[in-house]
Amino acid sequence: MTRARIALALLALSAIAAQRAPTAVSLVVIGKTVITENDSHQRFSPGAVAINGNAIVAVDTPSAIAEKYRAADTIDVPNDVVLPGLINTHTHAPMVMYRGLADDLALMDWLTKYIFPAEAKTVSPDMVRIGTRLAALEMIESGTTTYTDMYYFEEEIAKTTREAGLRGVLGNTIIQFPAPDARTPKDGLARTEAFIKAFKDDPLITPAVAPHALYTNDRSTLVASVELARRYHVPVIIHLAETEDELKDAQVKYGVTPTAYLESIGFWGPMTIAAHGVWVNDEDIGILKRRGVGISHNPESNMKLASGAAPVVQYLAAGVALGLGTDGAASNNDLDMFEAMRQASFLAKHVTHDPRTLPASTALDLATIGGARVLGMERQIGSLEPGKRADLITVSMSAARQTPAYDPVSHLVYVTRGDDVRTTVVNGKILMRDRVVKTLNAAAVIGDANALAEKVRQAVRQ
Ligand SMILES: [Zn+2]
Repeated sequence: MTRARIALALLALSAIAAQRAPTAVSLVVIGKTVITENDSHQRFSPGAVAINGNAIVAVDTPSAIAEKYRAADTIDVPNDVVLPGLINTHTHAPMVMYRGLADDLALMDWLTKYIFPAEAKTVSPDMVRIGTRLAALEMIESGTTTYTDMYYFEEEIAKTTREAGLRGVLGNTIIQFPAPDARTPKDGLARTEAFIKAFKDDPLITPAVAPHALYTNDRSTLVASVELARRYHVPVIIHLAETEDELKDAQVKYGVTPTAYLESIGFWGPMTIAAHGVWVNDEDIGILKRRGVGISHNPESNMKLASGAAPVVQYLAAGVALGLGTDGAASNNDLDMFEAMRQASFLAKHVTHDPRTLPASTALDLATIGGARVLGMERQIGSLEPGKRADLITVSMSAARQTPAYDPVSHLVYVTRGDDVRTTVVNGKILMRDRVVKTLNAAAVIGDANALAEKVRQAVRQ
């Protein structure tokens, strides 16, 4: 062999070696099973997810991942199921401060005697910050990685969410009567515009416009709200047809259903997230499908406040984007999305008298990729696929009540509780590892909330 040929051969060998050298990535998560929630519902048992920076690079068997990638950090949890982070499509985070303040009351008594007075006396930037921190701690601990919010002083919620490392679609509330952060709807709209400008390009926060509901806003405020959202290409969040009274009032006032009235004023669009959608008829469902509206189904809140049961079977049959929410903790009373999955499935079976309705796999779809579709974020989150943002959780499957484990999806929906979550990762960052939350000081968060609760207690006593 000539010297030139030897050099060539060596070059070829080093090229092959370079090809085989593992690629450096920031994190690999290895578990008993990886549930991808991709289009073909692919699973790997055992499985591993390679993450670099904020993105998923690969999902495969642990040996295939080990061959191709060298990780700076590895989470190896051989008894855990790895799945996409859960997506809560409707809540009011700071309302955790009113958790258990008053229960088992008729909706109007509950609102007018407890929630409204407590809010009037205690909602402030400080309260919102302390409440959101508590909510964020609970969400990280129970496997929620993205949540949708509607409250007051939303900029405080956004800052706190970012500090906690969660992803949020956060809507500043617009309401006809004086609110804690705005005297008039015009003030509310101006605050919202400033809020959108401040958070428009944030990697974790999607700012939104949140006209509270049809029954709490007049036509011009509703129209101004959607115009503002369209100008900045941000989502709109609204409560829709939550109670039978809301339906009846709309019929008396406008002669049509809430959904049809909002259609008549050009309110609906593909970036709208409507919470509840309980009292809708077939024509309403047709409108929501045609306009690409996402529906947030809140089974626990709807049951606790006796609001009714949303027609989830009809929504799914019509192809409406459907996700799950907890609603605020004053009406739930927690932010545990595993319970939301379980209750969504039970409620659907109960009202249809058919145990085949809303099986476990569908409940899991709703809490992951379904929620992503509701938020218009299905290309970024909701499943574990290369190129998507690295939002995932691991769930321990070794408790007595999870034994034996024949089917991880059955256990995730029918057995698992939020405190079985062991790892929470958002945007490639580890927010909780082995049940220890890294981005919040849990003891301080709970201490601050308990101190503030004294003020809330005083407020409802007076
Ligand atoms: Zn709500």
